[in-house]
Amino acid sequence: MKTIIEPFRIKSVEPIRMTSREERKLLMRAAHYNPFLLHSDDVMIDFLTDSGTSAMSAAQWAGIMRGDESYAGSPSFGRFEAAVRELMPFEHIIPTHQGRAAEKILFSIVGGKGKIIPNNAHFDTTRANVEYSGATALDLLIVEGRNPSSLHPFKGNMDVQKLRTLLEAEHQSVPLVMLTLTNNSGGGQPVSMENIKAVKALCQEFGKPLFFDSCRFAENAYFIKLREPDYQHHSVKSIVREMFSYADGMTMSAKKDALVNIGGWLALNNADWAQQARNLLIITEGFPTYGGLAGRDLEAIAVGLSEIVEEDYLQYRIRSTQYLGEALLKLGIPIVQPVGGHAVYIDAKAFLPHIPALQYPAQALVVAMYEIGGIRACEIGSVMFGRQTDGSEKAAAMELVRLAIPRRVYTQSHIDYVIECFETIVAEKDQLRGMKIVEEPPTLRHFTAKFDWVD
Ligand SMILES: *Cc1c(COP(=O)(O)O)cnc(C)c1O
Repeated sequence: MKTIIEPFRIKSVEPIRMTSREERKLLMRAAHYNPFLLHSDDVMIDFLTDSGTSAMSAAQWAGIMRGDESYAGSPSFGRFEAAVRELMPFEHIIPTHQGRAAEKILFSIVGGKGKIIPNNAHFDTTRANVEYSGATALDLLIVEGRNPSSLHPFKGNMDVQKLRTLLEAEHQSVPLVMLTLTNNSGGGQPVSMENIKAVKALCQEFGKPLFFDSCRFAENAYFIKLREPDYQHHSVKSIVREMFSYADGMTMSAKKDALVNIGGWLALNNADWAQQARNLLIITEGFPTYGGLAGRDLEAIAVGLSEIVEEDYLQYRIRSTQYLGEALLKLGIPIVQPVGGHAVYIDAKAFLPHIPALQYPAQALVVAMYEIGGIRACEIGSVMFGRQTDGSEKAAAMELVRLAIPRRVYTQSHIDYVIECFETIVAEKDQLRGMKIVEEPPTLRHFTAKFDWVD
């Protein structure tokens, strides 16, 4: 059969409130043309993020009921620890309330002034936690990873030669090497097993531990199965296990590939670091058998981890993201290629060449998507990155709109509706005007800035 159906039925539903284009124009104006300021019940299709927005399964909800809320030694922790270890064989598994809490603890231990943390590409919270500790966050992505139209199958790979040069020159300053699987900042692009092995070999040569920022480990493993010839006959679970056999530790946001709405963990083999991490955990998160979570959250993660490596799920997941990307390409809309695991990124600079970068073409597109279709997405361009520390404005390298797809939430007809909305957007795109910022906070302005159309 060529149709890949959603490999689940729906037991519990959330209604979508239908709105008209006229109504949405008013709602968008009231939100000052910033989708972060919309009420989510005024949104029909929400592509703002894939983080914490997954639909949980009946088995996960059953786990929620089974959650044991004992302060110490809860059997829910035991089930969580066993589920993590089934895929990721680390000695010490330390639950946190989300991924950034694991990062904060890790870099409080290994970071600090003068230290350098290399990564294929740091996610923004990772970079922020590295820099907050006083250390330098370095991105060593391969050059293809920065080129939106390069068709390289593993655009998340680390440039191994650059890593070697760094380790030769700055050996003492590097406490560990990181790899982000998949590379979120670069469009959900995977890292190959070959690259993981090459990075590991270098780490061994220089005596450095390798840590994974593992948020989308299952999507990464499925891309390895699809694109790396040696792995086509391996199960995803065995690929995941092999990936983590090369790592000495990991940080995780369970809000992505553990199919839950909140949670995370730090796992590692180094007993001394683990001891320090648990001490920090008790100050900032909680006792080591619950971290920042309730027992029921640990149960939901344990079940989610068994569901995320199911190949029918991953086939549907990766294919449905590609389906949207291919349809946009067919409409002549330029996107970052190949399509990543969790999101489709539209190149708004190429799509709306009549709008200058500092009139925020990606923000204008985000507004049009909402007004035309009730679709919410996020600008990743000069609104997010354009403001310099001295208050001046500089165009970002790319003007992107990210359509992040929540896991197991939308059906194919929702996606077909989105594609139809884009037909209208294409027909009307030449009338779309640029935008200006009328009010903004000094930092992280994209969350709260107020906009208007340019005249
Ligand atoms: C989401 C994410 C994080 C941070 O996790 P939170 O749970 O949001 O704190 C870190 N790294 C990557 C790659 C992510 O996608």
